[in-house]
Amino acid sequence: MNFGYSPKVEDLRLRVRTFMDEHIVPRQRQWLDEVHAGRYPVSFIEELKARAKAEGLWNLFLPHLKDDEPGTRLTNLEYAPLAEIMGRISWASEVFNCNAPDTGNMELLHMFATPAQREQWLVPLLEGTIRSAFAMTEPDVPSSDATNITTSIRRDGDDYVIDGRKWFITNAAHPNCKIFIVMGKTDPDAESHRQQSMILVPADTPGLKIVRNIPVLNHISPEGHCEVTFTNVRVPASNLLGEEGGGFALAQARLGPGRIHHCMRSIGAAELALELMIERAQERKTFGKYLHQHGAVGEWIAKSRIEIDQARLLVLKTAWLIDEVGAKAARKEISMIKALIPQLHTTVCDRAMQVFGAMGVSPDTPLADHWTWGRALRYADGPDEVHLQAIARMEIKASKETLGACAAYLNVPPRD
Ligand SMILES: Cc1cc2nc3c(=O)[nH]c(=O)nc-3n(C[C@H](O)[C@H](O)[C@H](O)COP(=O)(O)OP(=O)(O)OC[C@H]3O[C@@H](n4cnc5c(N)ncnc54)[C@H](O)[C@@H]3O)c2cc1C
Repeated sequence: MNFGYSPKVEDLRLRVRTFMDEHIVPRQRQWLDEVHAGRYPVSFIEELKARAKAEGLWNLFLPHLKDDEPGTRLTNLEYAPLAEIMGRISWASEVFNCNAPDTGNMELLHMFATPAQREQWLVPLLEGTIRSAFAMTEPDVPSSDATNITTSIRRDGDDYVIDGRKWFITNAAHPNCKIFIVMGKTDPDAESHRQQSMILVPADTPGLKIVRNIPVLNHISPEGHCEVTFTNVRVPASNLLGEEGGGFALAQARLGPGRIHHCMRSIGAAELALELMIERAQERKTFGKYLHQHGAVGEWIAKSRIEIDQARLLVLKTAWLIDEVGAKAARKEISMIKALIPQLHTTVCDRAMQVFGAMGVSPDTPLADHWTWGRALRYADGPDEVHLQAIARMEIKASKETLGACAAYLNVPPRD
């Protein structure tokens, strides 16, 4: 077992980190100013994207790129440490065309789009000229169980007609968001996992309305987590993604790699929070001691280091498993990291915020924003509890094969 990164990955880590330090970190102030003024900073993001693309730091997330598709062909294991670096700044991954939800959408289109759908939507997404949204969650039903969704996708001649209300749809407010992948029901009478389908809805289709960009803990994301209504939205039947009734299976295929990307970036955010905590604890003194010399602060530093390193190992193992056996066979590990890492993300940010005193809850450090995103990740792509339940179910199922084998370890005295 080798715990080191390969020379290829070390080289890429250096290049991504250098790019971040030279071109992205210095723009953070400008990003915040533009966002607080209510603008998405498209102009400088586009300038940075062109630079990253020219340097070959582009589409690093997609392992199975075809020869004619732009990007760096990496395994999930190779991509993990690069996503971690991107996770240090909340908006950095878009510069490398590696941001959610576009990455999950590109993977979905890569696997299931027809040649015409590929040409129209996947090619510009891979080029980074458009953005996309994935619309599954609905305000009126508990959407952590996707069989509950009610949006209807009704066949009408050569078209489908879509009616429903979605919310928390990430990217819907992005000025370049041109396409929605919408999950709804084509046959409410079919078996519960065969009722759903996915359909491609261009953002300018009449009847599609962005109702509002929902603040997350009072934080407004310029790309949006939006409430969106679909009223008599009509698209050609050829916009169906995959087959009718295949939507649930497509959703499962989409969420595996998407979940691990979030976790990789969370490790980066936690690592930055720890670095900030360590620096601050060496700068400030109270009661005659540097902060790190107080037992509680030293313990937070130590615990954060242990927990981040544990979590990173599990993420890397999961990435390796996805490469070796596929996301389906790695679903227990994917649930494990998804249940673990958003919690770690918020815990480490929370400790760092505490070490910064009141400044920790101000916008003068990135900690409050990182904490907010970590908290949101405890729902996005499935709440913690759903993942914990899935892990327990798989553990119980596996134990059935050897049930009773532990009895030999019990020391219960024999009964008369
Ligand atoms: C910032 C953000 C971005 C998002 N982006 C998108 C997006 O782009 N597209 C999209 O479609 N959705 C998106 N979501 C929505 C997200 O996927 C859902 O919030 C999530 O799936 C949970 O669904 P729900 O909110 O309807 O909660 P519900 O299904 O109502 O569940 C409520 C709570 O019940 C508990 N619970 C549920 N099931 C179980 C169980 N089996 N065992 C124990 N407890 C359980 C959990 O605590 C859960 O939080 C986003 C959410 C956030 C916060």
